[in-house]
This record gives sequence, structure tokens and C-alpha cells, in this order.
Amino acid sequence: MPTIANRVAGFSTTIFTEINELALQYGALNLGQGRPDFDGPPDVIQALIDGLRNPTVNQYPPGAGALSLRKAISDHTARFYGMDVDPQKGVLVTAGATEAVFSSILGIVDRGDEVILIEPYFDSYLPNLAFIGATPVYVPLHPPNWTFDPDELRRAFTPKTRAILLNTPQNPTGRVFSRDELTLIADLCKEHDVIVISDEVYEHLVFDQAQHIPIASLPGMFERTLTVSSLGKTFSVTGWKIGWLYGHPSLVEGASRAHQFVTFSANHPAQIAAAYALSLPGTYYEEFQSMYTVKRDLLMKALTNAGLKARQPEGTYFIMADFSDIFDGDDIEFARYLTTEIGVACIPPTFFYSHEHAHMASTQARFAFCKSDEMLQQVGERLGKLTR
Ligand code: GLN
Repeated sequence: MPTIANRVAGFSTTIFTEINELALQYGALNLGQGRPDFDGPPDVIQALIDGLRNPTVNQYPPGAGALSLRKAISDHTARFYGMDVDPQKGVLVTAGATEAVFSSILGIVDRGDEVILIEPYFDSYLPNLAFIGATPVYVPLHPPNWTFDPDELRRAFTPKTRAILLNTPQNPTGRVFSRDELTLIADLCKEHDVIVISDEVYEHLVFDQAQHIPIASLPGMFERTLTVSSLGKTFSVTGWKIGWLYGHPSLVEGASRAHQFVTFSANHPAQIAAAYALSLPGTYYEEFQSMYTVKRDLLMKALTNAGLKARQPEGTYFIMADFSDIFDGDDIEFARYLTTEIGVACIPPTFFYSHEHAHMASTQARFAFCKSDEMLQQVGERLGKLTR
């Protein structure tokens, strides 16, 4: 008896789970999955505990999300980006950003439509397209600076293109797309009448002079963009799985219809705490960025000292590093070697590529720095064992 549908037969366990298991088995310092090893802010945790004391909060919220959270998302968008989002019809709360991206695709894209993926892309996007029978069209980012070739981008747009999936700040490269890059994407979307699904979960994780620009804030783009974000990265509570999307009500409508039958609603008490978290003053966000700047610098130093060519990320909590000066082999071999022999786990970026382009990052490794400063220092010591 076949027990697995064709739809999922080709899927293996995600690389994050695989590396977590390997890291555990070998006692490696785990810089694989982007999973903070420190807790979220105590007052945000307290807001969740307080939420649990309210009996109505222990029952279903409105499917679109608790109104207090939808209002907080609308206020947050106005505060940081000057965009006017309707909390009633322009926001949808989901079970994490992963569901927000999937519900957006379900609500917008039809079987046979083409969807542009900027490669490397986050690992759930491609299975999401496969579920509905949409066709991915790839536009690679070229190392070492991870920029796209404008002509390659232009060529990806065809009469069948329905949407482009964007991720900025970008996992795994750490790129924050510039206004010029976003403007080119926006112009092509307007020219070809294409919708943008923009995954911006690292919106507050930007460093130095980098500025996160939601593509929805560019002229003429609000009407054709669904913006996705979440609580997990910004408040170090990835386990709460509270995400959302916002945009023009006509676009949110499709995603909302899908969401009703994917999860119906997301965890209610965590939504109440999320509304509290989003209303924290600017100092929270500034301290958050300073904390991560220290961590980024620690890991940059550790990787560079060990002979890897690490690219300083403008955003996210990931560093991509080229190991070809110190290791002969591909990224999967390197990740296995580093985890089992050196005791530092990382993610091979091959899993962020289509099969045909998997070789493009075969000398790269992705390291997460959402870890204690002590661990990042220890990583430096362990990487000292690498020999050139
Ligand atoms: N976003 C996390 C990362 O890239 C992983 C989330 C997951 O495991 N699906 O590390």
C-alpha cells in the first residue's frame, strides 16, 4: 500500500532538522538553524502569561487575528514605514511567516502560473509552489556580493508570470536589497502586472548604514504587494509561530480565504502578547540591533581568523562564508566535516537552490549568529582547529 502521496514523495527531512540532529549527536556548537539560544524580552513573555489569565483569550480568536494585534501591525507599519494599512481588511495574522507565505501563494497563484524565485531562496518557498503546481523561474544572486544581473531578472518575466517571491533582508545571504534594486523589481512588476510576495521577517535586523525598505512602500507598489513578517526574529520567540501579512485588502482577501482552511487562526494568547511587543518604544529596536551587531562582529572575526571568506551581512542573523581556501569538497561535505570533526554546525546552502543550480553555492556555508556571545567566542576557539 503506498503510504505517501506523490506530492510529498520527493521531500526529505529539512536540512535544519538534519543538522540539529547531527549537532546534538556530536556535541557541536549549533550555528545551523536560525534559532536564538536566549529568551525573548521578559515583559513580552509576561504579556503572554497575562494573556493566558483571560478566559476569552484561551478560545479561538477571529480567523484574521485578534483585532488588537491587527491594529498593532497597522501602527507598526505606519510608525516605521509611513504606510497606511487597514487593520480590518488589510492585515491577516497567521501561524508564523511560513504560513503567511503559503497562504499568500494559495490565495494568489494558480496552477501553471510562473512565480519568480530569487535564488538562493528560503527552503519552504519551492515546496509551497509545488503544492499548487506553479512553475518556479529562478533568478540567481551572484557571489561574492549576492547581486542579481538586471538582464537575468528582466528575462525571468514572461506573460505567464503571476508573482515574484522576494525576501529582504535575505536569508541566507544577509543581503538587504537597495532602493535601486527594489525599484528595478518594482518597475518590472508594474510593467508585467505581477504581484510581489515580500518576506520581510528580518526587517529589524539591519546593521550599520543599511536600511530596510519594504517594496510595498515604493510608488505604485502597495496595490500589488503582500508583505509578510513575524514576531519570532524581532522578539526572539521563534517558537510562538506568530506571523502576518498585510497589503491592499483586495490582495489580502485571497490569502484570507486560503488561511481559513489552512490553520483557521493562530495561537490567541501569543497574539495578545505580540500586540504588546510591537508597541514597544524605539529603544527596544535600537538595543536589539546593537546586541546583534556585537554578535555579528564576533562571528565575522571567528570565521575570518579561521581562513574563511565571510561576507559581512547588512541584515539577518546569518553569515555566508566561502570555505574554498581551507577545504576541498562541497558544501554538504564541509557542513558534515565542520559539525562532526570541528564541533561547529552550519547549513549547506545547496538546500536553498533548485537542483539545476545547486552547484552555485558549493563552496559556501551559512552560519547563524543568534547565539550567546560566549558561544560565538567558543566557536572562534573551535574554528582555530581548522588548518589551511
Ligand atoms: N528560518 C530558520 C532558518 O533559516 C529556520 C526555520 C525552519 O527551521 N523552518 O534557519
